[in-house]
Amino acid sequence: MSDCFYCENGEKLHSLMIEICELPYSKVYLNRDQKHKGRCIVAFKEHKTEYFQLTEKEIAGYFAEVSRVAGAIWTLYHPDKINYATFGDGVPHVHVHVVPKYKGGLNWGEPFDDTLPKQILDEEEYREMVKELRTAILKNNAL
Ligand SMILES: [Zn+2]
Repeated sequence: MSDCFYCENGEKLHSLMIEICELPYSKVYLNRDQKHKGRCIVAFKEHKTEYFQLTEKEIAGYFAEVSRVAGAIWTLYHPDKINYATFGDGVPHVHVHVVPKYKGGLNWGEPFDDTLPKQILDEEEYREMVKELRTAILKNNAL
């Protein structure tokens, strides 16, 4: 799929997110927009556009990985709730936005709003987050 930036794995993808690690069913990315601290994306490894196109084994494996990433975010950044968002009208490749929400913080009590100005960190801060997230995700080997 040349019009899918997840499959293309080029400049567009890298301008939006940084790869944290690969898991058996997914690739995990840190979203460069960090207005919800710890926000990640878990993308299915193959180009599928709907969950029902995955086998039951893939669905179980993929969502176990989404859950594992959420657990790592929970441990590291202590949000009060994690939101899981799937849209895909623009980029239909199966992926879930894992968005930590903080009581009294941005968008608490409402759907997260991706149209608000982005909060961009410096490269050193991204490196640190990628490193701690990778460690936390890979440490949880309960799968
Ligand atoms: Zn794709």
